[in-house]
Amino acid sequence: MPEDISLNILIVDDNPNNIFSLRNLLEDNIENITIFEAVSGMVALNTLVKIPIDLIVLDVQMPEMDGFETAQLIRSRKKNRQTPIIFLSAAYKSEQFQKQGYALGATDYLTKPIDSIQLLSHMRLYIRFILQEREYNRDLENRILERTQALREANKKMREEAFEREKAQQAVEWAKNNAEAANMAKTQFLANMSHELRTPLNAILGYSEILKEELSEEGQIEHCEDLGHIYQAGQHLLTLISDILEISKIETGQIEVNVETFFLKDFLEKIIKTIKPFADKNNNTLEINHYEPSIQLHSDPAKLRHILQNILCNASKFTHDGIIKWTISCVQVDDSEWLFFSIEDTGIGIEPQQQAIIFDAFNQVDNSTTRKYGGTGLGLAISKQFAHLLGGDLDVSSQPGEGSKFTLKLPMQSPFNHQEKAS
Ligand code: ADP
Repeated sequence: MPEDISLNILIVDDNPNNIFSLRNLLEDNIENITIFEAVSGMVALNTLVKIPIDLIVLDVQMPEMDGFETAQLIRSRKKNRQTPIIFLSAAYKSEQFQKQGYALGATDYLTKPIDSIQLLSHMRLYIRFILQEREYNRDLENRILERTQALREANKKMREEAFEREKAQQAVEWAKNNAEAANMAKTQFLANMSHELRTPLNAILGYSEILKEELSEEGQIEHCEDLGHIYQAGQHLLTLISDILEISKIETGQIEVNVETFFLKDFLEKIIKTIKPFADKNNNTLEINHYEPSIQLHSDPAKLRHILQNILCNASKFTHDGIIKWTISCVQVDDSEWLFFSIEDTGIGIEPQQQAIIFDAFNQVDNSTTRKYGGTGLGLAISKQFAHLLGGDLDVSSQPGEGSKFTLKLPMQSPFNHQEKAS
């Protein structure tokens, strides 16, 4: 690049003849230089403001402002603090001036009349230095430029990544909100549907019972049996629909806890009466162990009945010719009294991996079990949620092929007061 190796040289001398001969000498012997002229220190300073000068040849003896004053002003300009200055002065003043010149930061000090060989050799040396420095500076600039560019790109990448992350987070949030809304809508739909289904089903159950009664009075026994099947199937359907409605209510936080004070004895007797025919059906023996008849409970009897009946029904359903042992014990936990209801059967048992999911809604051990035994897979999920609502918990332990044990732990004093909405 021509401008890269071309140099601007400023000759400052009050005598135009000196400038002329110096210009000729330099232009004839050195390539790629442009000479600028100044006939006084003031003109020199003006030129420096307008043109980037690489080297200054400065006459010492000039009227008005001499070479030293001029050099001082040149050096006070930030841009020219390092510009090489070659002083030229008459030989007879040389020694004293030389000192002064170097003190002002002269690069070189030559005497007149000019020794052209000496001047040219010095000039060539300076020019080489200047060009080397220029190249060094250019390299430095390029390196700085490269680094700045790299930094800028890294910054840009970081900003883009942050933006992408933010976008991904928003998408996750959006999907989560959507899923929650969809789940809520589904639950609400199930709740509405179950309600709608229950009304006509109750009519079917009611009318089949009335009809059965009338036919039985008329002695039409064979029709009575058919009506009994319709009634049984309707009852089963009603249980399934009720389960769906119950789980929907739990999920939407619409469930109410109705706390009452009641005697455990009366309460248990009713459950035993209900559950006995189920146990008998598969030829099971129902054993009831240890309970204190005078115990009073402060809890929600409907929910407690629901849990116990569900566990006892399951035990009867999944056990044949076996024993269902129901143990009730009073336990002191910290400062409060608890009742532990454990229902242990000698039935088919549950595989360990299935025990982990047994309390999740819509999970049955496997489809073949459903086909064989029926059910929605909601019973235990509801029971567990109810146990929590009453301030307690429900657990299982089981040995496949040997039997299962469900334990309901319940505080005698429910944390709820009378009627509260749980959410
Ligand atoms: P379902 O209404 O379908 O019976 P549950 O939630 O009450 O639903 O029970 C879920 C599954 O857990 C049942 O389908 C059954 O496979 C298993 N299970 C529950 N209780 C027992 C038990 N006592 N013995 C063996 N398996 C059981």
